[in-house]
Order: sequence, then C-alpha cells, then structure tokens
Amino acid sequence: MREFSKPQEARAIEARARAHSCGVRVAVVVEARRYCTPARSEPGTTYTIARTPVGWACSCLGYFHTGVCKHLGAVERRAEREGWAFGQIAPLARVACYMPLDPPTPDPEPDPEPPTPAGGAARPRSLDEYRARGAA
Ligand SMILES: [Zn+2]
Repeated sequence: MREFSKPQEARAIEARARAHSCGVRVAVVVEARRYCTPARSEPGTTYTIARTPVGWACSCLGYFHTGVCKHLGAVERRAEREGWAFGQIAPLARVACYMPLDPPTPDPEPDPEPPTPAGGAARPRSLDEYRARGAA
C-alpha cells in the first residue's frame, strides 16, 4: 500500500481547489452516479468519473497514481452546488475490481432500411395501365 505524505482529506481538498482554478467541467452521464470530462492532456480522450460501491473513482492517470484528482474534485463541487451527497472518494486499494469505469460500448442499433420495391415503380393496377406503360 502506497503512503502519501499528506492525508487523503487534504489531497481531496487540494483537488477541489485545482478543479476550480483549472475550470474543470464535468458533464452528466447519469445524475449523481456517472460523469465525463474531456482530457486536456490527450485531445479526443474522455475521462469517466463514476460512483462505485466503494466510492467515487476516475479513469484518469492522476487518480490511478494518487487516489484523487481534479475531476473528482469537480464532481464534488457540483454535488455541493446541486445539493446531493457526494459521499466519499473510493480508496485505490478497494476500487480495482470496479475498473475499468468505462462501460463496454453497446452495439449501435441497426437502422432497419425500409424495403424498397424493385424498380421503384408501383405495380400497374390494370391490364390497360400495363399496356399504356409498355407503349410509352
Ligand atoms: Zn480524474
């Protein structure tokens, strides 16, 4: 188990301050349960912040290395603003079995193409119409 010079609480408070000073924004995926935020260091990448049974966890490297990050800080701040209980940040030692946080992407629903009639034209309704078309 890794030891930090500062207690977890102090680092969580620092993370909140960092979230504020960096202007970290998190988007709701599931209210009070799952959020996402664009990664600044890797454009195109998104981090997931999710509530596991042992507490909140983030998919970024900062969380993996230190057990806290500014994204979690941003969610905590948001919880405060929105008036729901944030609870706790998941201890790294217990969160491993809930990783990865990113859910497997579901297969997109196939868009059923409506069957198009062969040739595109409606069937002639009468023998006369059939002959008229043939003559044209
Ligand atoms: Zn993070």
